[in-house]
Amino acid sequence: MAASGKIASFRLPPLPTIGEVIKLYKLRATKQLSQNFLLDLRLTDKIVRQAGNLKGAHVCEVGPGPGGLTRSILNAGAADLLVVEKDTRFIPGLQLLSEAAPGKLRIVHGDILTYRMDRGFPSVISKPWEEDPPNLHIIGNLPFNVSTPLIIKWLEHMANRTGPFAFGRTRLTLTFQKEVAERLTASTASRQRSRLSVMAQYLCTVHSCFTIPGRAFVPKPAVDVGVVHFTPLAQPQIQQPFKLVEKVVRNAFQFRRKYCYRGLELLFPEASRPELAEAMLRQADVDPTLRPTELTLGHFRALADAYAGLCSLDPGLAAYEFREELRLKRIIRKKGSAAPPCPPT
Ligand code: SAM
Repeated sequence: MAASGKIASFRLPPLPTIGEVIKLYKLRATKQLSQNFLLDLRLTDKIVRQAGNLKGAHVCEVGPGPGGLTRSILNAGAADLLVVEKDTRFIPGLQLLSEAAPGKLRIVHGDILTYRMDRGFPSVISKPWEEDPPNLHIIGNLPFNVSTPLIIKWLEHMANRTGPFAFGRTRLTLTFQKEVAERLTASTASRQRSRLSVMAQYLCTVHSCFTIPGRAFVPKPAVDVGVVHFTPLAQPQIQQPFKLVEKVVRNAFQFRRKYCYRGLELLFPEASRPELAEAMLRQADVDPTLRPTELTLGHFRALADAYAGLCSLDPGLAAYEFREELRLKRIIRKKGSAAPPCPPT
């Protein structure tokens, strides 16, 4: 810390280039771990700038690999950078980086899908949910095969204020396949509007930052990549439990091109389907002939509230899944057709 009280600026000393690190440690990319590296530090600096001011910040980086983005995060002034990497081959290169930034880089060999981030940072950095976000950021050039399950898992943590969100409204700056990035940020009535758009936008401000052409990566993926920034909302736009919202949204998008009631009615058992679906849509004041993509967050809020009301009248409803009803019917039909014919009377 400088005498003025300002955080002294930090620059990494001269290091081998990322390309040289890849050669030195023989880091051939593997497809199974969706490894596409960024070697251009101007580009990794640009990604890191989207996170905002990182001076003195705590950061978790997902999948540092050979460490390009890691260097940019350190050069941006992060005081405490925790990296979670699944592939052991990258650990020696990351250790080299750790020596060049004493006391700033912590390396975890692990899987981000199971890593307990709530234990990764001191609780003193926590901020009450309604206040400004804590000085903690998650940044990552995500492996494609993990990005969608990971963001869904983190959205659920966000709703429950657990995991990385036990510290408050932790911000995320992440890359996704361009098509997934478009779905995350799609507005009502746009072609890319989907389950993911609603689930992300009811919980956060989602901002599409910029697109990285596939050719910027080594090896080059078949698709372009979008950088997306998320800030959790102090007041989520829907006040029902995450699982309930997820069920309503999943059912609404069951038939993308049909009227929304076609998917929504599947929330209810066949015997009472028409009455309950009508009651829900009426209570929510939603036009049943809207397409799922035309439903606004306000519509989803009203639908989730109406569905929660019906579940409180009949608690069995919450556990109902139409796929399970179909599966059971199929089993019964199969058993029926396998039964020996009735003896002649
Ligand atoms: N950050 C590096 C860059 O930008 O060049 C590498 C990005 S590469 C797209 C994804 C990285 O995530 C790889 O290093 C890969 O080994 C790592 N990875 C893949 N699955 C992972 C998981 N489940 N948990 C942690 N890291 C993972």
